[in-house]
Amino acid sequence: MKTKELDAAYVAHTYNRFPVEIVSGHGSLVTDDAGREYIDMGAGIAVNIFGMNDEAWKAAVKAQLDKCQHTSNLYYTAPCAQLAELLCQKTGMKKVFFSNSGAEANECAIKAARKYAQDKKGKEYSTVVTLLNSFHGRTLTTLAATGQAHYHEDFTPLTPGFVYAAANDLESVKKLVAENKVAGILFEAVQGEGGVIPLEKAFVQGLAQLCAEEDILLMADEVQIGNGRSGALYGYMNFGVQPDIVSTAKGLGGGLPLGATLLGEKVQNVFAPGDHGSTFGGNPVCCAGAVNVLNRLDDALLQSVREKSAWIVGALSGAPGVEDVTGMGLMLGIKTVKPAADVVAACREGGVLVLTAKDKVRLLPALNIPMDVLKKAVAVIAAACR
Ligand SMILES: *Cc1c(COP(=O)(O)O)cnc(C)c1O
Repeated sequence: MKTKELDAAYVAHTYNRFPVEIVSGHGSLVTDDAGREYIDMGAGIAVNIFGMNDEAWKAAVKAQLDKCQHTSNLYYTAPCAQLAELLCQKTGMKKVFFSNSGAEANECAIKAARKYAQDKKGKEYSTVVTLLNSFHGRTLTTLAATGQAHYHEDFTPLTPGFVYAAANDLESVKKLVAENKVAGILFEAVQGEGGVIPLEKAFVQGLAQLCAEEDILLMADEVQIGNGRSGALYGYMNFGVQPDIVSTAKGLGGGLPLGATLLGEKVQNVFAPGDHGSTFGGNPVCCAGAVNVLNRLDDALLQSVREKSAWIVGALSGAPGVEDVTGMGLMLGIKTVKPAADVVAACREGGVLVLTAKDKVRLLPALNIPMDVLKKAVAVIAAACR
């Protein structure tokens, strides 16, 4: 059987895959099983931060693979310690817990918030406020955190202790804080799966102020928007706030599974041995790749992300068939006149792979996509929208 038939026969049908089998790639170009080349404007959902087959990242990964691939967390490894130091130096956070995915990074964030609040204020302080239209993962707890009812259907009972406020509505958050014993407030700087919708700066600053006043933990879910994608190292940095907890994954590993939960001053010592753990978390191969990724997210790279973003927004805003372009940096959503799925299919026929988010066409290219490749892709996208 061919791959597509094998997949249909044996892989659980949780994904509606695009009809493309990717076999290789280089930078922002990927090749399918028939040898056809596409420009990849999705980067494995914001994971392949420097595209496919990036030489420097591969060298870092291979060098570690030649030494040891896994040790368990019962032993020290240098890449894990070095990555934690880098993350803290670049964010001002104090400690890092490593896991393997965004959902796990959020699970750790929620556990940290509950432990801090329960230690400090009492057992009943367990509620986490999240925002309507948010997305925080697929485990039963991060599904509960996700403020979209349709993801919850069929999987109840979910973990209790989550309430949902309207995004960009500080009064709605304050009401929930008054009515519940709240441990933390979890937000995405740009709601990704919810349709690539950035939060307003005043709202996020209001959240930060409320959290400071009430000794509630401000928690940034940076799984998708983090690691340079917004044009700042982390999305929250665009708002001039300092969260108490930051969760990230996707782009951090550059293509290998890696999640990280960054703990700020207040929560840096919230966990004691045995409180949390992961067999694979902090895997030395994944961490060695991530050290290479983080070291390259410097001011020049971030500046180029902002420039490419402005260029895309300029090229597509007001173009025929385009109603609106939202997002930040290289995480952009295009509201199209035609159904997004039709635009995605037309782009694919034109040799460009794009994604959707709700009713929008979503772009998440590699951060180092060359300008000439980006221009070609945007021309195809513009034609597909028409
Ligand atoms: C993708 C995503 C997650 C879940 O990450 P997984 O690695 O799939 O578990 C959580 N939060 C946000 C904002 C995401 O975009």
